[in-house]
Amino acid sequence: MINLSILETKAVIIKTQDFKENDKLVWFYTEKLGKITAIVRGAKKSKSKFLALTLPLCYGEYMVYKGKNLYTLQEGKIINSFQGLLDNLHKLTFSSYLCELIDIACSDNEINVELFRNLVTTLYLLNTDALDYELLIRAFELKLLKSTGYNLTLDRCSICRKKISSSNYISLSYYGGVCDQCPREHGLFISKGTYNALRFLMNMNVDKLYRLNLNNDIKAEIEKVTTFLICNNYARKPKSLDMLNFIKE
Ligand SMILES: [Zn+2]
Repeated sequence: MINLSILETKAVIIKTQDFKENDKLVWFYTEKLGKITAIVRGAKKSKSKFLALTLPLCYGEYMVYKGKNLYTLQEGKIINSFQGLLDNLHKLTFSSYLCELIDIACSDNEINVELFRNLVTTLYLLNTDALDYELLIRAFELKLLKSTGYNLTLDRCSICRKKISSSNYISLSYYGGVCDQCPREHGLFISKGTYNALRFLMNMNVDKLYRLNLNNDIKAEIEKVTTFLICNNYARKPKSLDMLNFIKE
């Protein structure tokens, strides 16, 4: 007998793809199961109850059951479809980037409740008009790096472990600040302002971000650090990065 135990979890849709004539494959980043792929039968039919439930970025409560290779979507309820993000090119690009980051940084079935909550909060904040979106994305990148094993050490020298209050250099092989005595190799020079901002961004909740006001030089340096770490530590470079740079110009 096949055991069709139904699992219920909150999830965000990070990617979809047509499958066969009427079906869809949907990649969910879930609270309780990590990243999973589910088949949605009949999702492409115009009268399908799954049509609205399986749009990219949709955040909802989903019921799935596990098959041999894939999950199957059984039922779902939208919490926030975030479709407003699709009307604005910047927001669309930023949110696609967030989904792509989750896709490349997380392995299947690896549960990370904190990262899941950070993703949902970041999407909610992106959906408002009250924030510096670039800073929001940087904060998310730092949280993602932290939750996937690439936490930056900023209160100690990342090489000799001596306590430091600040530094003008980030080592990209030791993942952190470097003291005055240690060699400056394979890293980036940054301003002290950037160092402090990095430390602040790493430890703050994304919903407190409105308190932070940084100049463009500092933002550009933070971006250099996070982009380098993302492009060099994960399986592939996010494609939406090119789009992000394109719309910035
Ligand atoms: Zn040192």
